[in-house]
Amino acid sequence: MSIDFLTGLRAEARAYADLLRPAALDRDREPGRARDPVLPWRRFAGLPAEYNPDPLRVQGRTALLQSCVEQVVVYEELARADATAVLALPGPSMSGSVIGDLADETQRRRYWEVVAGEGAWTFFGMTEPTAGSEPAGMHTALHPDGDGFRLAGTKRYIGNGARARIGVVFARRHAGPLGVVAVLVGTDKPGFTAVPLPTTGLRGLELSELRLDDVPIDAGDLLGRGRSATRQGMWAATRTFHRYRPVVSCLALGVAQAAYDLVAAARPAVRSRLDDWRQRLAGTRALVLAAARSADHDPSDGTLASAAKLRATRLAEDLTTDAVRLLGPGACWEYPLLDKLVRDARGFEFMEGTGNIQRLTLARGHLQGRLSDVRAA
Ligand SMILES: Cc1cc2nc3c(=O)[nH]c(=O)nc-3n(C[C@H](O)[C@H](O)[C@H](O)COP(=O)(O)OP(=O)(O)OC[C@H]3O[C@@H](n4cnc5c(N)ncnc54)[C@H](O)[C@@H]3O)c2cc1C
Repeated sequence: MSIDFLTGLRAEARAYADLLRPAALDRDREPGRARDPVLPWRRFAGLPAEYNPDPLRVQGRTALLQSCVEQVVVYEELARADATAVLALPGPSMSGSVIGDLADETQRRRYWEVVAGEGAWTFFGMTEPTAGSEPAGMHTALHPDGDGFRLAGTKRYIGNGARARIGVVFARRHAGPLGVVAVLVGTDKPGFTAVPLPTTGLRGLELSELRLDDVPIDAGDLLGRGRSATRQGMWAATRTFHRYRPVVSCLALGVAQAAYDLVAAARPAVRSRLDDWRQRLAGTRALVLAAARSADHDPSDGTLASAAKLRATRLAEDLTTDAVRLLGPGACWEYPLLDKLVRDARGFEFMEGTGNIQRLTLARGHLQGRLSDVRAA
């Protein structure tokens, strides 16, 4: 993808970001408002061509936003206006990646008809209250029941869970890492309940708890049927993390850029600090783009994705904290947007794995020779 095309794409996204900015604080105060469609969401959700009659067009070309590279360019610009508005878009988000890797034709059609046809939200259900996102401790289980199964357990901190129509739940079918499978679940099933959780940052995402009380699952809802055990649930989950860590990184970068914009407008005299920030923003942007290219090329390698997530998360935390110091006592009252940016920035540390988990992936990648130079992180 040429730099020229990506520059055009960024300019196009910036124009749409202007639509998001005015109501960013309203969406933060009332997370339910993030459901109101401000953007023509189908242009931004990453729908497949056959389900997207009206995609973004840039320089005479269609931009479906199915590639990670297109996503990081566009979502950073939107996040500069409001990161939660991006996370709260209807559409496939992380579950679409699992569908792409594991679904058969019938499952694919069912999923996309709901998502694209009705403008539905989706969810990706991995994390649990007592086991976190570590699959080894996963309690949610898929029990055989006649011709099908029953799904039982609890998932917590699931983005868009309470507003979703369909999504993917990871559950244990057997002991061991290869015993985790992915299941396609409609939220209208008996025994399925989703409740929004109170949060301080990224509030428009409506983090939720999913309660799965013996939800009946048809055999046809099991994703990756007929594949080898090494190409099922955890395989698809890992590839999804590798694809979406650059996306989380670009959202953190958008928040960092918004903090920069605010200080540059309010305190233009702090020139050397702004110069330093500009360099860090540019360096991180280059790393996020490299991670996105790597994810598009080979989603089984998450080394650069972890490097980008580590660095972008740290940048968002540093810049928002520094902005509060520079703008002085009462900054968060005087600049309500800064108060939101500080809270939103902290959410990225946890999404798709904390800094320590990224460091472990990065170290493993380095030891395996996947990166000749990891100094960027
Ligand atoms: C805004 C937001 C959106 C989210 N969306 C979703 C979603 O849609 N779906 C979903 O399933 N989950 C979601 N989550 C949950 C998120 O993925 C997990 O909270 C995250 O992966 C961290 O996992 P954990 O809670 O298990 O913490 P842990 O990984 O257990 O970490 C707890 C602490 O222990 C440290 N630690 C853990 N292991 C090691 C180790 N081996 N070595 C050193 N230190 C270690 C960590 O760094 C951290 O400080 C979301 C969370 C947030 C905040």
